[in-house]
Amino acid sequence: MNLQSALIPLVPTDDTRLVLALDLADRIIDHSSDAILISAAEPIDQPGPLIVFANHTFKTRTGYSDEDLIGKTPRILQGPKTDQHTLRRIRTALETWKPIREEVLNYKKSGEEFWQELNIFPVPNAAGAFTHWVSIQRDITARKIIEQQNFDLAFLDPLTNLPNRRLFFDRLFQTIVKNTRSNHYAALLYIDLDHFKLVNDREGHAAGDRLLQAVAKRLEACLRAGDTLSRLGGDEYIVLLDQLGGDFEVASSITEGVAHRMLSSPDRLLKENTSTWIGTFSIGITIFSGNHTHTLEELVEQSDSAMYQAKALGRNRLQVYDQAMRQANSEKSAQIENLRHALDRDWFKLYFQPQCDKHGNILGYEALLRLQHPTHGLILPGAFIALAESTHLIVPIGRWVLAQACQQLARWATQPQTAAYFLSVNVSLRQLHHAEFVDDLMAELKRTGVNPERLTLEITESLSRTHSEEIVEKIRRLKQFGIRLSLDDFGTGFSSLTYLKNLPFDELKIDRSFISDLITNSTSASIVRATLNLSEALGLAVIAEGVETQAQLDFLFDAGCRIFQGYFFDQPMPIEVLEAKRLSVNGLAP
Ligand code: C2E
Ligand code: CA
Ligand code: CA
Repeated sequence: MNLQSALIPLVPTDDTRLVLALDLADRIIDHSSDAILISAAEPIDQPGPLIVFANHTFKTRTGYSDEDLIGKTPRILQGPKTDQHTLRRIRTALETWKPIREEVLNYKKSGEEFWQELNIFPVPNAAGAFTHWVSIQRDITARKIIEQQNFDLAFLDPLTNLPNRRLFFDRLFQTIVKNTRSNHYAALLYIDLDHFKLVNDREGHAAGDRLLQAVAKRLEACLRAGDTLSRLGGDEYIVLLDQLGGDFEVASSITEGVAHRMLSSPDRLLKENTSTWIGTFSIGITIFSGNHTHTLEELVEQSDSAMYQAKALGRNRLQVYDQAMRQANSEKSAQIENLRHALDRDWFKLYFQPQCDKHGNILGYEALLRLQHPTHGLILPGAFIALAESTHLIVPIGRWVLAQACQQLARWATQPQTAAYFLSVNVSLRQLHHAEFVDDLMAELKRTGVNPERLTLEITESLSRTHSEEIVEKIRRLKQFGIRLSLDDFGTGFSSLTYLKNLPFDELKIDRSFISDLITNSTSASIVRATLNLSEALGLAVIAEGVETQAQLDFLFDAGCRIFQGYFFDQPMPIEVLEAKRLSVNGLAP
């Protein structure tokens, strides 16, 4: 069918100029790379407009022929995934004879999906009444695919195809906005696989990845259509349950029902994927209505701390965030705040404890951090280092410590009696992981003009469990620069001989737990002897920490140890005290 015959009812055909014009229009339309469809306005008893004309492009694009199309409604193009909202907007425009432009997902005769940009406008007849619709349709499938890919990249977790953290937080925000109006409840379920690390360790990362995918499917199967499951990273998933209604009891029981379904025995799907994973989860739950005062992050943290509680209670269980946790969390926030204040207001202070030879001659010091609080007094690092590490505040705090240490070394360098001192500084793994750590430290050494060989970094032994290529590389760079490296708390972690062989340590520091019962416990005594033999074989220096008695000192010296630190010699002290002592020993004090 061509345009002319399609439009016969509309135009008088005895006019030759008109026929010529229509013929030209026919050719243009048939050569158009856009699909063009003309439909007659719907008769009262029809469910939609009826197609009277489709151009060549329309037919080749959709696979439909004139016989398939003429007299049918354009609805034959729609399918299961065509957006109902878009269709409703189009229908409203048609009803009021308004032009409209929309993007819709359509279906070819073969069932294949494709995207079109529709540009629909009404045409009037000679009497000026609207009788037909013209629809110009551009294929935008390629663009839509790229848009989808960009969306996936930005908002989906590539491993599981679940919404990523960004999309999750967006959904959470939308939910809260909505629930503030309705005052309905929603819930977060923070889900962590129990002992997932074993799978990676024993079966490899590929197996771990497959398991994470299977778990995503399993968890998804426990949810309803409007809920959001997201992977936050690693083996941690989070679920947002929406539309739990306005009754707290009901909301709780729905939420716990979902969690129980997740916890119920692992299915075949999972067993196929792993021989190691025991198939249990720990789930932390927080339920909140629209009128709460928490930030999105705080809500997620609540479910996270409930999850930790579930783990602490023996795993394979759910735990609801409650008043006690609320209390603990607010204390933790106050402590974090305190650490920030301490940094801003210069409340941190370095204490120095001497490292000596057998006779008490000072070879150097270890710098130990204190927090001098204006009202709470002196706070020891045991009370805040772990928190600083878990919040990354250790990075600026550690930077401060290293800057102070360099300044102290620079001052010592100006005096002959102190110029040979070593200064040991404790460095957390978290600091070492930080991208700028090595550059920052080198810059500080250059700025203060300190000889890097005077600085010893004490790195704790827990390093060995996580020593990645990146860390090994950093430690080598520090070493090349001349900085000394000491392996702290030796004997308490998982250090292996290969590890000692691969990393350029200068010194081992025997942990004080072995020194404290050296005299009474034969195992500790043997470990200390073995450590001293080992370090001699490897050409490493050894320092014993926590030496408190003459007996410990004698034992250690006999076993071959030459450097000591502990209350037997002196306590950690502020620099003023240290200087005063030094001057009095040298007979210079008043
Ligand atoms: P550490 O590196 O094992 O430091 C030795 C700890 O033993 C210090 O505790 C020190 O005061 C204490 N000590 C020294 N001699 C004796 C002794 O004879 N007997 C006993 N019982 N204890 C002794 P402190 O100062 O409370 O530091 C605790 C831990 O905090 C340190 O353990 C270290 O891991 C960490 N730390 C201290 N300062 C810093 C720092 O600037 N940065 C980082 N990341 N950690 C630090
Ligand atoms: Ca130390
Ligand atoms: Ca130690």
